[in-house]
Order: sequence, then structure tokens, then C-alpha cells
Amino acid sequence: MPDGTESESRKLLGRLRDTMAEDAAGQARLDKIMHLTADSMGSEVCSIYLFRDEDTLELCATEGLKKEAVHQTRMRMGEGLVGRVARSGKVVNTADAPSERGFRYMPETGEEIYSSFLGVPIQRLGETLGVLVVQTKQKREFTSDEVYALEVVAMVLAEMTELGAFVGDTAALSARHTQPTMLRGGTGQEGTTEGHVWLHEPRVMVTNLVADDPERELERLATAIEQLRVSVDELLAGAVEDAEQLEVLEAYRMFANSKGWRRRMEEDISRGLSAEAAVEKEQSAARARMSQVADNYLRERLHDLDDLSNRLLRILTGQGKDTGASMPADPILVARNIGPGELLDYGRQLRGIVLEEGSVGSHAAVVARALAIPLVINAPRITTEALNGDHIMVDGDQGVVHLRPDDTVVTAFRDKIAMQAEAQERYASIRQKPAVSLCGKRISLYMNAGLLADLPSLENSGAEGVGLFRTELQFLVRNKMPSRTELVAVYKRVIEAAEAAGGKPVIFRTLDIGSDKVLPYMKPTDEPNPALGWRAIRVGLDRPGVMRMQLQALLRASEGRPLTLMFPFVAQWEEFRAARAEVDKAIATERKLGHVVPEKISVGTMLETPSLAYASNKFFEEVEFVSIGGNDLKQFFFAADRENERVRRRYDTLNVSFLTFLEQIVQRCSATGTPLSFCGEDAGRPIEAICLAAIGLHRLSMRPASIGPVKSLIMRTDLDALYDVICDARERGEQSVRGAVMEYMRWQG
Ligand code: PEP
Ligand code: MG
Repeated sequence: MPDGTESESRKLLGRLRDTMAEDAAGQARLDKIMHLTADSMGSEVCSIYLFRDEDTLELCATEGLKKEAVHQTRMRMGEGLVGRVARSGKVVNTADAPSERGFRYMPETGEEIYSSFLGVPIQRLGETLGVLVVQTKQKREFTSDEVYALEVVAMVLAEMTELGAFVGDTAALSARHTQPTMLRGGTGQEGTTEGHVWLHEPRVMVTNLVADDPERELERLATAIEQLRVSVDELLAGAVEDAEQLEVLEAYRMFANSKGWRRRMEEDISRGLSAEAAVEKEQSAARARMSQVADNYLRERLHDLDDLSNRLLRILTGQGKDTGASMPADPILVARNIGPGELLDYGRQLRGIVLEEGSVGSHAAVVARALAIPLVINAPRITTEALNGDHIMVDGDQGVVHLRPDDTVVTAFRDKIAMQAEAQERYASIRQKPAVSLCGKRISLYMNAGLLADLPSLENSGAEGVGLFRTELQFLVRNKMPSRTELVAVYKRVIEAAEAAGGKPVIFRTLDIGSDKVLPYMKPTDEPNPALGWRAIRVGLDRPGVMRMQLQALLRASEGRPLTLMFPFVAQWEEFRAARAEVDKAIATERKLGHVVPEKISVGTMLETPSLAYASNKFFEEVEFVSIGGNDLKQFFFAADRENERVRRRYDTLNVSFLTFLEQIVQRCSATGTPLSFCGEDAGRPIEAICLAAIGLHRLSMRPASIGPVKSLIMRTDLDALYDVICDARERGEQSVRGAVMEYMRWQG
């Protein structure tokens, strides 16, 4: 870059800073910046277009175009060259604008006399806020230094917009983060809730963007990077046992030592930015790239870079994680993502959770479910949109978030919350009653659990026991393998809680890892198709060490009381036999060691693969009980990955083929007198649950919050009549019985 240009851009930034410091009202300030920029860049026109709403850009100030067009000229995203810059987030630099693809001139602005056009996006942390444009009559392309200078002005404008520097005398420019916003994400845990935002990682606000002593800024940056490097090294030294953390920290170290990263920031400083503005510029670029890369690994690394920039910003600005803000009384946690441990630390004080990322199967979602906290995942831009203390309404049922809602939304939403509260009261009133249908069938309702946080639900959900205790959750929420002693303590607490709740039974399922449940501290296996891979009982039998430790812990925790165990993912009889033999061996060892063993031990299996449904009669005679894991069974039955959003909901559980298949399992178990239950997610959906009950599945296990709604519907349903409806629909050749069932239920009122 020629020296002259460098000092020009620094001079421009200096003048900008003076304007920022003046006490001018919003519009006047913006006008002045347009004037300054046009003047410094030797262009006749400089204009700023900001988003009015998600799709509309508005000319908000100009030097050179007709003043009457300000706040009048609007264009849609993608429309004209300005719209193209906004949509693509990329610079458009052309000597001959009218001959450019997509060019459209706005007659009211008088821009037809200008030939060259340079438009740059105004972005903050990856989000496009508007477009900054310079135009000249003379046909010429702008040099890369000029493009750079305009980009820096755009960045300063983005920061000033964020800080509300243009809000003032005119209603046309409203402050950011004040508008009602609705964000659509996905359901992580059902339920509706209202409260105030609590940011897990509060944003660092950069107020001094421009600096006129680059030497000093370079020194500040160097010191901060050194400090960062030392802290990462210290973290690395302390994280020797945690493979995942190590990997992340190694990536941090890589960036902290990266020459390219540092060089780009140094260049920005030499052009007039402060050290923190230079860091934020890099961070913004990383965020913009993040939204464009599809590769998971690369995205994660860009996230690491983003985190690292945050750390650096904190060092430079002195703003710690603790910003001095106090947590509201009704906190709704807002985060990009969060680990299960951190979420457990917040615990039940949270009213709701909104994550920008996350997935239904993530560990955070598991914890949110156990704590029965409504959770919305994949809420786009929530961490950039929300400010600490903002009013927020979370609809976990629909996966929708209303940030700073207006009065109509508030009223409608509160009505919904009130209706749900009424329903909860209704469920509470039948909590102690058995689920008996109108035709007199008694259906047993159990709960699924896996964390100690689930235990209070044993009392307050009306569950008759724990139909599925997912023991892997205890392994998943830790960052290292739990010891046998730790496991004994956990299992003992579960058994004792069930005893205290009136001697309710608990079915412990042995470790079900692999596929979507990857332990952070175990070496990942690189499998092309993990759902069909080395998982659950396959791992347990091939590497029996962990299973033996777990069985021993379960036996010890029972302290002589009855114990019920079940194996996950058994695909053939032999696997059950081999696993059962491990139990017998463990009992023998415990006896030899002089420990008491359970007075009675029942051992059953999950039925999650179609193959097991066709095992011989002898198998069904040998197992003490069977529990259908509908989540896995359905994915294998329809060959539709339960984790894949594209196909997950494609096949209805009430599809005639699947129901007929389940009915065959019911018949086989009834022929051999084998107790049978169903513990997949569908058991907790009221319509699905009554259909399962109608075809003969009289024991259902579900998440605790579903027991009330399911029981309430069973008590109002004639299951025999419903069975006839199902059979008729099947006879008629319907693909799914859902339509017929819904119509019957509506007719029943
Ligand atoms: C199932 O597959 O239905 C089940 C209950 O097990 P998980 O969801 O833990 O795989
Ligand atoms: Mg399963």
C-alpha cells in the first residue's frame, strides 16, 4: 500500500472519530460521515443504506444524491447492485455500473449520471446491517486500497449503529436491539415460558474503534496475544486428561500462534484501527465465513477462532465474563451452545434455554429435558440479537422465540401459558389415579430417566416406576469416565429414591453408547454408518471391561434389594445370552468377595432391531421381559435415520406397516407370557400412546412430563373401539391410521 493512502485512511478514521465524539444528533452525524468519506475518497457520492426490516434496505443518508430521496428510496434484498452487496455480503466494484448484471437505477436519487460504483457490506459479527456506497461520474475502478478504506469506514459505521450512535432526532433510525423479533428454531424440549435474557457469554462492547498511535496499539495487541498464549498454555497443561478439551485447546494454540491471523490484525491497526477494533474485524470475517462453510470440522475450528477472539477482546477491553450484570429473577439462558456440565451448574433456576446451535440429541438437550426446562435449539442469530435483560418468550412446542415481544404477542402467549397451566392442574388432579380406559383396560405408565435431576419426577409425575434408566447419561455428562465408586453412589440414590416413592421399580439399562451417544473421553471410531455400527451391547461384549465395572456397581448399589437390568440393542439371542452370562459371572464374583447380592434379579432386553422380533419362541421364553425401543426400531424398520432432519419425520409411527409389526411382537410375547413394554419417545405422545395401548401395549415408559397428558387421554378413550377404528382403516388400505384415529377422537369430543 502506498504510504500516502495509508495516511489518508488513518486521516479519514481520525476525522470520523472526531465526528463520533461530537454531540450531533443521529441524522446530522450520519450526514457528516457521508460528507467526510466522499471528500476523503475523492468521490462525488457517498451513501449509506441500512436494513429497515429483514428484506428491505433504505437510503438513510447521502452526500451527492438527491436529499429528498433520503428515507424514501428503498430496495429489496438482492435488488440492484446495493441489494446484491447486501445479499452476497461481498464487495461490488465496477467502473461501469449501468452495464452490470442486475443494475437498477432509482430515478428519485438522480444517480443516473454516475458511472463507477463501489459498494461494501456493513457487517458486525457476521451479520449484514446495510451497505455503504461511493460513486463517481468518471469511469474508473476503485483501487484495492480504496476498497479497504471504505471497508474500514463500514466497520466503524457498524459499530456505531450497534452503539445506537445514529438514533436521535429522527424516527427513521431506530436503535438496534429494540425491535420485537421472532426467531424460528427447533424444539429441544417442549413447554412455554417467559422471562428475561441472561447471556451465557455476554458480548464485549468495543467503544474506541479508532486510534492515532498505531505503535501503541501494536504493542497493546502484542501484549494481549502474549497473555492469551500464556493462558492457553496453562489451560493445556491442566487439561491433560480430557481429550476433547485438549483438542480444542490445541486448536486455540494453533490460532494464537498463527502468523496470518496476527498479521491481518496488525495491518488493520496500521491503517488506523484500535487493537480491539482490529480483533473484532477478524472475528467478524470468521463469523461471515462460518455461515458459509458446510464442513463440520471447519465450522468447529472457526468457532474456536471466534472464542479466541472473544478472549482477546476481554483482555484488551478489561471486560471480564462477569460484566457486573446480575442475573434476572426469571432467567432465560441464551447461548451459542452449552455443555451439559455448565447447564447442570445453572440448574433449575433457569426458566428456559435458547441456543443458536445444538441438536435434539445433544447432551445439553438431554439435561434440559431432565430438568423439564423448555429449550429451543438452532435459533438463528439469537446471540447477536439478544441483550442481557431483554424480555423474551420461548415456545418450546413450536421451536419459536419472541424477543422483546409487542403487546399482542405477549397477550396471546400468556393465554397459551395459562392454558398449559390449567392442563397441568388437571394432570395433577389425576396424578394418584391409575390409567384405566373407558373400556376398563389398565395401562401402566412409567417414566424414562437417566440423571439424578430426574428423580423428583418419580413423586410428582405419577409414574409407577422407571421403565428405562439410561445409564449412559451419567457417562455422557462427565468429561471423564466415572469410577465404580461414583457409579455405586449414583445408582444407590436412584434405588433409594424409588424406594422412598413407595417402592417403585427401576429398570436399569446397561451402557448404550455409540451411534449418536459418543463419550467425549473415548477414542472416536471412524465408522461410515454409526447407527448401524459398533454400539451398545456390541461394545459391551467386545470390550467387557466397562460393562463388568457397571454391573458390579449396580449389584453393589442394590445392597441386597431386588434389581432389574436390561440390555440395549440386542439383535440376536446369542448376544442376550452372552450378556446374561456376564451378569451371572458378576454375581459369582461379588459373592466370592463377600458382598451381598440382590435377593432377586430380573434380566430383560430392549427390542430395537427387527431381527429380534423374529427370534425363536425359545428366546421369548428365556428372557424375563422385553421393552420395545421404538426410536431405534422405527429407524431400522423404515431405514430412516432418527438423527437426520430430512428423513426423521417422513414415516408416521401410525403407519399401518409399523403398527402391524408392533402388533406381531405383542402377539409373540403374549403367546410366551413374556412381559412387554414400549419405551421410545412415541409412548409420550398422547395420540400415539392410545394407539399403542389399543394394539395391546399395556406398559408404556415416557419422559415424565408426558405422563399427565397420556394418562388423561387414556382415561377418556375406549381402547376397544379405537382398535376397531385402527383395523377398519387398515382394511380400507390407508397408509397411516392417523386420519381415522383423529376423526374418531374428534367425533368423541
Ligand atoms: C429407543 O431406541 O427407543 C430407546 C428408548 O433408546 P434410546 O432412545 O436411548 O436409543
Ligand atoms: Mg435405542
